[in-house]
Amino acid sequence: MFNYFQDLADRQLAGGTLTREEALAVLHSTDDQLLDVVAAAGRLRRAHFANTVKVNYLVNLKSGLCPEDCTYCSQRLGSAAQILKYTWLKPEEAVQQAATGIRAGASRVCLVASGKGPTDRDVDRVASMVEGLKDEHPQVEVCACLGILKDGQASKLKDAGVDAYNHNLNTSESNYADICTTHEYSDRVRTVEHAKDAGLSPCSGLIVGMGETDDELIDAVFALRELDSDSIPVNFLMPFEGTPLEGTWLLTPAHCLRILTMIRFACPATELRMAGGREMHLRSLQPLALQVANSLFLGDYLTSEGQEAKADLDMIADNGFVVLGAGPDSSTGSTDCTGSAVSSAVSPGSAASGTPQTNNDGGAPASAGQVTIRRRGAGTELAPNV
Ligand code: SF4
Repeated sequence: MFNYFQDLADRQLAGGTLTREEALAVLHSTDDQLLDVVAAAGRLRRAHFANTVKVNYLVNLKSGLCPEDCTYCSQRLGSAAQILKYTWLKPEEAVQQAATGIRAGASRVCLVASGKGPTDRDVDRVASMVEGLKDEHPQVEVCACLGILKDGQASKLKDAGVDAYNHNLNTSESNYADICTTHEYSDRVRTVEHAKDAGLSPCSGLIVGMGETDDELIDAVFALRELDSDSIPVNFLMPFEGTPLEGTWLLTPAHCLRILTMIRFACPATELRMAGGREMHLRSLQPLALQVANSLFLGDYLTSEGQEAKADLDMIADNGFVVLGAGPDSSTGSTDCTGSAVSSAVSPGSAASGTPQTNNDGGAPASAGQVTIRRRGAGTELAPNV
């Protein structure tokens, strides 16, 4: 029986390029079609990443006190969010924080600092942390996320042993002025290009749930495809109280899943990470999202707490996945790569028409009180969540 989404997966596996109409068809799929969509996108995930999950670990090197005004950010200028605020961690503390994540299974450590971009002195500071980290853990990948880079800074980071650089586009170019006025979309694109030119693996992703339209979301995803980002973290807006987007709860679990599947169809071979906010927005659908995404952050985020790290690792194992880079003994599940489909006929023409669809959208948006401010790990006396 013809199945629109399986046919779409066949075409991507054969090297096809997702069109806007097809992306809309995925975003407008109904709840009845949701398992079909996930099964089809899951074939792409398994073709490129088998049953592995890449585990990443965040270390917030410098928290809050940012002069920029990104509306979604708890660290922004004027934020009244009661987050931890601290200046640069000492190198030995940064290495120690990173090491806890590595011991828990992370194969990549993401070193993040708030601010518009680093000074040359900041780059030297991070370079010395990375050198210390690589001395102790030569196998670990290090991703730096320090904001907008100036000429020469990407090369300096590369020389120090940094493997990747993260700078998210966050949203579409047309939507950018609505989420930030202190820098521009083009600054972000340029930084990703700088990182690529210096030989760093580009990591760039999104924040969804900020009121973007489906077309704006597709614009942003296609821009990431154009940038050829090696990894795409997808953050689900956590509307911190005390920020302009406080009270913005627009996402349902099913729609979060549709967004991830659309990105998987658009970028079949790209590392796709379910990032900040996955717990409160995907909720009980997190395991289904793993059938599409092949990467996550373990434990806590920069300024908020995630679910317990043990719950992350249990979810991976319980669903038949293995942590990338872990020994064969950690495999507890299937290595089946067929991604067998739950098939049923769909009506792609109607789904792709661009007219509003009734997709039922099981589940309700999350609500206030679900963002828990981080009070442990980096910048505190308490042990991190690993
Ligand atoms: S530049 Fe970074 S830290 Fe500063 S407000 Fe924007 S997202 Fe937050």
